[in-house]
Amino acid sequence: MSLYCGIAYRRSPCWRARLLSTYISKTRFMFELKEDDDACKKAQRTGAFYLFHNLVPLLQKAEQQQQPYLAPQYSLLELERLLGKFGQDAHKIEDSVLIGCSEQHEAWFALDLGLGSPSPTSAALQKPEVEAELRGSFTELRKALFQLNVKDASLLSTAQALLRWHDAHQFCSRSGQPTKKNVAGSKRVCPSSQIIYYPQMAPVVITLVSDGTRCLLVRQNAFPKGMYSALAGFCDIDPAELERTGGSCVVQS
Ligand SMILES: [Zn+2]
Repeated sequence: MSLYCGIAYRRSPCWRARLLSTYISKTRFMFELKEDDDACKKAQRTGAFYLFHNLVPLLQKAEQQQQPYLAPQYSLLELERLLGKFGQDAHKIEDSVLIGCSEQHEAWFALDLGLGSPSPTSAALQKPEVEAELRGSFTELRKALFQLNVKDASLLSTAQALLRWHDAHQFCSRSGQPTKKNVAGSKRVCPSSQIIYYPQMAPVVITLVSDGTRCLLVRQNAFPKGMYSALAGFCDIDPAELERTGGSCVVQS
């Protein structure tokens, strides 16, 4: 958002107002879908779905050299046909999570076909069969992130984090009973103890170390050829430092 605002400020006030108005309109629409299960179910009927298998997104090879991968979208109807072909009913779609929307209020969802929820009607689908059927491949997001366009990279990152959170929070930490997600996947509720769980956020710091003309960069063996990163890590509370200063944080890389 700050990047968009930065660009907008250099343009006309009219452009800036339109951009902010679009942002507010999308935010309101997303909020409605997160709070209203019926509205979210309705949005699924006209929305688009991104697919994952065990938290790995389905990608297809693209023609463009700059962005060799694209993330295919599927309609609800296409998804129902796919599930039917693999002997599953549409209940699996209840595992999907809301990850964004277009300016025209087309809602975007993500569904993991590999993760099986406790529901007996929601078993995992086999990866090779799905890949062959959809002419794509489930590709590690870290490897493909910079080979996707900005919109898809951002959406798939959000989707992966949210799907992972749901997979790890299937049961209530107090009563041990299964928790139930709302339609949008913005929260999980324990019907036994009425506790509501919300996806957690982890503060992250990324630092560009420079001597004025050069930058210090790092890379992992798993990175694609030519890919480097600035230094980054999660923020955590350091109890000793907290006691000394009354509130601070350290970086764990
Ligand atoms: Zn509980």
